[in-house]
Amino acid sequence: MPAAAAARPFRMGPARSPRSPAWWSPGPSAGILWRMPRFPGAVPSRLPNVGTTIFTVMSRLAAETGAINLSQGFPEFSAPPLLYDLVAKHMRAGSNQYAPMAGTVALREAIARKVEALYGTRYDPEHEITVTAGGTQAIFTAITALVRPGDEVILFEPAYDSYAPSVVLAGATAVRARLAFPAYRPDWDEVRRLVSPRTRLIVTNTPHNPSGTIWSEADLGRLEALVEGTEIVVLSDEVYEHMVFDGRRHESCARRPALAARSVVVSSFGKTYHVTGWKVGYVLAPRELTLEFRRVHQFVVFTVNTPVQLALAEYLSDASLHLGLAAFYERKRDLFRAGLAQTRLSLLPCEGTYFQLASYAGLTEERDDVLAERLTREGGVASIPVSAFYAQPPHDPVLRFCFAKNDDTLARACERLARARW
Ligand code: PMP
Repeated sequence: MPAAAAARPFRMGPARSPRSPAWWSPGPSAGILWRMPRFPGAVPSRLPNVGTTIFTVMSRLAAETGAINLSQGFPEFSAPPLLYDLVAKHMRAGSNQYAPMAGTVALREAIARKVEALYGTRYDPEHEITVTAGGTQAIFTAITALVRPGDEVILFEPAYDSYAPSVVLAGATAVRARLAFPAYRPDWDEVRRLVSPRTRLIVTNTPHNPSGTIWSEADLGRLEALVEGTEIVVLSDEVYEHMVFDGRRHESCARRPALAARSVVVSSFGKTYHVTGWKVGYVLAPRELTLEFRRVHQFVVFTVNTPVQLALAEYLSDASLHLGLAAFYERKRDLFRAGLAQTRLSLLPCEGTYFQLASYAGLTEERDDVLAERLTREGGVASIPVSAFYAQPPHDPVLRFCFAKNDDTLARACERLARARW
């Protein structure tokens, strides 16, 4: 259809209906409504293989069917009121205009103190810390800034879904190392074989979404040895850094000078403070990498929400809030696992994050995406099929459940899963 025809106006009913309120008066275009014309050309996609993410699909399905939503990773509960009061305080005090590009000085200084206390490394707030609009923007910006067309980026699959599209948009190639079901441990010999002269970046993620595994000191040692003498940068996604269980410690790249020197470390306040909708996070990196990161950052978001940054800077001074998170989620993990033990699912270990994997091997031959949809519709519990985290899904018999939910929600979900038909 020619564009002109598509854009022709059409008339719809009387401009003023009998139900129009008394104050209603026709505007300049009253009586003529335009149906939005179609774009007259082709739109070649930069991401032709990407549709709506599984997280949106499953959350929507859960809402439509009234299922308990353990699919998407977000807390069901609120932050302590103090955090909201602090944001309101800074808004009312007039801190509502652009923050400095790299983040407010107060927040960068508070981050520097936190990181130093935790990992023993002093990052310079001026040149080595940047506040971002959440972890996803940090990852996108880091890849865009550091990866050139033709480069290779090593990812570990199953992988958080934003990594590969960011690599594709940078004109680079994603090279996939396997974290194999059911242990989901890195095979460092395989990773070594995947490194080539074109490898620019290795993306790591511990604690790991979706498997809930954490990397050990030995893993970081292997990574360090692997990149020694190369110019490879490590993009270390540590958004679940404060959710590590059973008394183990989080192995941050920031802990090890040789890795810190070549790492862009990503964290997210959304995960730590139960405010995923605020989308504020940060990046730690040596100044040479930070310089390039900020070159792109300033044109992607320029700056991040000012009153929230100022509130977080104050909130961060109470270390018990992030240090207590592991115990908070460990209790939920134990509760959820005890409930799931009453079902026919087999539990995989959960060492960190707020995700629990469950295997349905031997219960049904269904593919994980088919089962996840059926369990939502029939069983009333929404989960995520782990195949969603792969380019070429192996369809292992495993589903991911998020336990960042109220205790009674977790209990009700377990009751439903216990009654599920396999
Ligand atoms: N990395 C991983 C592994 C995640 O699970 C998430 C959130 N689901 C992010 C990054 C993104 O964090 P944010 O919400 O702060 O963008």
